[in-house]
This record gives sequence, structure tokens and C-alpha cells, in this order.
Amino acid sequence: MTYRGRFAPSPTGPLHFGSLVSALASWLDARAHNGRWLVRIDDIDGPRTVPGAAEDILQTLERFGMCADEPPVWQSRRTAHYERAFAQLQATSGLVYPCGCTRKEIADSLVRAHARHATLAYPGTCRDGLHGKAPRAWRLRVPDSATAGASVDPAIIRFDDRWQGPQSQNLATEVGDFVLYRADGQWAYQLAVVVDDADAGITHIVRGADLLDSTARQIYLQRCLAVPTPSYLHVPVVVNEEGEKLSKQTGAQALDASRPLDALRTAARHLGLDLGRPDALITSLDAFYAAATPAWAQRIEALKRP
Ligand code: GLU
Repeated sequence: MTYRGRFAPSPTGPLHFGSLVSALASWLDARAHNGRWLVRIDDIDGPRTVPGAAEDILQTLERFGMCADEPPVWQSRRTAHYERAFAQLQATSGLVYPCGCTRKEIADSLVRAHARHATLAYPGTCRDGLHGKAPRAWRLRVPDSATAGASVDPAIIRFDDRWQGPQSQNLATEVGDFVLYRADGQWAYQLAVVVDDADAGITHIVRGADLLDSTARQIYLQRCLAVPTPSYLHVPVVVNEEGEKLSKQTGAQALDASRPLDALRTAARHLGLDLGRPDALITSLDAFYAAATPAWAQRIEALKRP
């Protein structure tokens, strides 16, 4: 198998330290496997996309010495592929259905569920019809949870994360039928990511742990679309002093592209990499990557459970 990894930034602003950590982890993992490393611009969410941010991110990655092995892929240019995948899902009777619930209706029903100590999954209001409401979004039906005593529960998705260890999520009770096509006329992130990774032949996904919770949905979608499930590794997210994930919304600073080594060394420390020599002796990007690649391989090896 040829390793194919990727970094998939959303162009909502310039690259910041949090996204650098994800980029570096995916880059080092690809290098440690002698694999290929691709970049995809996740600009499917038109309203969140900041003009010029994608070009800025691509340029910053290059300044940091991370060059993609193939031209970048842009989600905004791939809607025909999402339509095709959606049509494929629609061909299975009842797998996708229109939903007429507004955000407020769903929020209200979740509040009621919470009061009953029930789960916070979409309650399936439109599963069996729109009840006179106008269709707004389209949802993917997830399997019902097995009755007590069954040996296999089709609603539970399990996977082994190479950093976080064994994971499982019950799609029926923790998520519910999820949106593929949004009420604002956009393809949902979950569908786009699964279709893109499959079309690009991605074998290994390395990204921030904020996406750990999406992974079970993505694996379920891969099964529905009959495409392979890649291997997953979610690195710890970078948080600010208030404990919030670094992002444009939480005021993350753009990286200083004129001093890539400083930020790279800090990112390596965040990943717990032992570069094996003092910072002062790592004076070039080549020297940094030559030290960081085996350090990454060692770090991942040390995380392996017996
Ligand atoms: N574009 C997503 C983000 O920036 C990441 C998608 C992924 O790595 O699967 O949060």
C-alpha cells in the first residue's frame, strides 16, 4: 500500500499555531512512512471562507518547508462529486430523507430530552415524513441501536486511533441521523470530507482531536458509500490560556512566516517530540525535518498499546 496523507485546512483565516501542529503532524507521518502528502482546501462552507486565506495558507506551508506532492484540491470545485455520492446514497431506499426541522425546533427538543436525561441526538422527527413541513435539509439515517442482549450493535462504530487509542461511538444515541445537505444549500462537511478523501485515495488521516467526534460519522458514511476506511490519528489540540481551542474565533495569531523554525520547534514540543539536540543546533528547515521525522516515528511507536 502506498501511504497517502493530507492536510485539509479551512480557509477561514491565515495559518495559526493550532493548524500548524496539525499540518506538521500529517507531514511528519507521511515522511516517516515514505508516503505522499497532499493539501486540500476545505472551502465548502462559502460564508466562512475568507478571500485570499487559502493562498496565504499555501504560501505559509511552503515557507515552513511543507510542499504538497500534488496540486491542491479545492472543495468548492468538487460539488459534482458530492452530488454523485448523494445520489448513490439516495439509491438505497430510505437511507437519506428530507428534514423540515428548524434549528430552534431541534434545540427545543434537545432541551426536552435533556430534562428527561435522554440523549442529545437528533430525535428523528422527520424520519417517517415531513408532517406537513417544507423540506430544509437532507439527513442520513443511522442504524437503530440493538436491543439489550444482542451481541452486535449496528449503531456502534469502533475504530482504533493511532494516538488516542480505541474509540467507539453509538450513532443512534449520541448523534442521530445527521445532515448531508444543509438548509442553507451547502453540502455538509461530513459528506465532502468522506468523498474527497476517498477520491484522493487517502490512506492515513492525521488531524486535530477536535475532529475525533466526527470520525464515527465519517466511517459510517464510508461504509454506506462502499469506500475504504483510512487509518486515523488525532493529535491533541492546542488551547489558549482560557482552555479554548486555538482558532480564528478565539483570537489565534497568524504565524510569522519569516521565522518558521521558532514556530516549528514549538509545534514539535507540543507533539512531545524529542529532537535529540539543542534548538541552537537546528538552524535550517532541512535539519529540523531530519530530526523531527524519526522523533515523530519514535513518539508514535511509544504510544502503541500492548
Ligand atoms: N477542514 C477541517 C478543519 O480545518 C479539517 C478536515 C479534516 O482534516 O478532516 O477543521
